[in-house]
Amino acid sequence: MDFDFGPEHDAFRSEARDWLASHVSGAADRRTWEHTLGAAGWIGLGWGEDGYGNRRATLTQQVVWAEEYARSGAPARSGHIGENLLAPTLLAHGTDEQKARFLPPIAAGAELWCQGYSEPGAGSDLAGVRTAAVREPDGRTYRVTGQKIWTSLAREADWCFVLARTEPGSVRHHGLTFLLVPMDQPGRIEVRPIRQMTGTSDFNEVFFDGAHAEHVVGGEGDGWRVAMSLLGFERGVSTLAQQIGFAEELGAVVRAAVASGAVHDPVVRERLVRQWAELRTMRWNALRTLGGFGDAGAPSVTKLLWAGWHQRLGELAVLVRGAAAGVGPADWSASAPYELDAAQHLFLFSRADTIYGGSDQIQRTIIAERVLGLPREPKGAV
Ligand SMILES: Cc1cc2nc3c(=O)[nH]c(=O)nc-3n(C[C@H](O)[C@H](O)[C@H](O)COP(=O)(O)OP(=O)(O)OC[C@H]3O[C@@H](n4cnc5c(N)ncnc54)[C@H](O)[C@@H]3O)c2cc1C
Repeated sequence: MDFDFGPEHDAFRSEARDWLASHVSGAADRRTWEHTLGAAGWIGLGWGEDGYGNRRATLTQQVVWAEEYARSGAPARSGHIGENLLAPTLLAHGTDEQKARFLPPIAAGAELWCQGYSEPGAGSDLAGVRTAAVREPDGRTYRVTGQKIWTSLAREADWCFVLARTEPGSVRHHGLTFLLVPMDQPGRIEVRPIRQMTGTSDFNEVFFDGAHAEHVVGGEGDGWRVAMSLLGFERGVSTLAQQIGFAEELGAVVRAAVASGAVHDPVVRERLVRQWAELRTMRWNALRTLGGFGDAGAPSVTKLLWAGWHQRLGELAVLVRGAAAGVGPADWSASAPYELDAAQHLFLFSRADTIYGGSDQIQRTIIAERVLGLPREPKGAV
């Protein structure tokens, strides 16, 4: 089996590489970088439709772009929730007006989005959503009240897509609606950062107190279908790009093992080789899935593979550093979190990998029920 993309993609790869090489070093803050990407048409390659200011690219070209992006050292994307989650959802379920209103600013990198799904009582069990949206007498707009949690990028975002209960007294996945809520509503929306053990605050609590919303995707009461459809877009070509980043992290761990002498420990050697071999397997699995050879459990298998792999790499990263991995730099002040080095950051942040995007346990349940045909999990089992 040939896993190369073929010479016909070389021109596209060169264009992507050259553009990135000439723009990455000038990248200032993450928002400006989104504008730069958007102005050159690099946002929305996978939408399947152009005309919103984006370019249209084949699946292979999207993979090539994602690989070159990961190799280039460009900033982490703050526009990915709008580009990769909301936009495909609007293309599938939005009205023409909604597409015309929201897709061009996403493609231009001008409007950033966050995802308002999880609540204190609704994570894995998302159907437990309690945030309520009440229709105003005008019959067109809504007032949203409730709390979301773990909302990534909420402080940077201009808009949030919110799963809310519009039918009072409804239960589970009935009576839910998918609303687009502008974030700039002082007094009606409050964002509180959540401090993590990495010292950073990548996600937040979001409190809605009568926040105004007027855009419904898919119709009132149809929120569950739209919300589930969006989750189906969560991973795709980005998996291959992610693996390029993983390969670089693994390379850094190998170099650290050589530097510290840990590489002479046969157990460490065995674990390093295992990480390398598993990464190759993940690449072939991702290519097989993208090529249309996956089954209903493929996204869950992919998630299980990479999340566990990345967590074990984090553990290995601190193991090869030895005791040095447990201390901060000499100049850290007691009042502020000190800068973590790459190995420490990898170890601490990768603890979240098996939780977000659907926890390991939930992925195993999906595989058990949808692929292996095992009996469904009894209600209220956990
Ligand atoms: C880094 C990060 C970023 C995130 N960003 C966002 C975001 O932008 N927007 C958003 O809406 N959410 C976001 N989340 C939230 C994420 O979707 C939830 O954390 C996840 O769905 C799990 O929900 P929970 O935290 O409430 O845990 P719970 O659902 O309470 O689960 C706790 C534990 O119980 C297990 N468990 C639960 N139910 C079952 C079951 N039926 N069978 C077996 N085991 C079970 C879980 O696997 C887990 O180990 C983010 C989370 C993280 C870590």
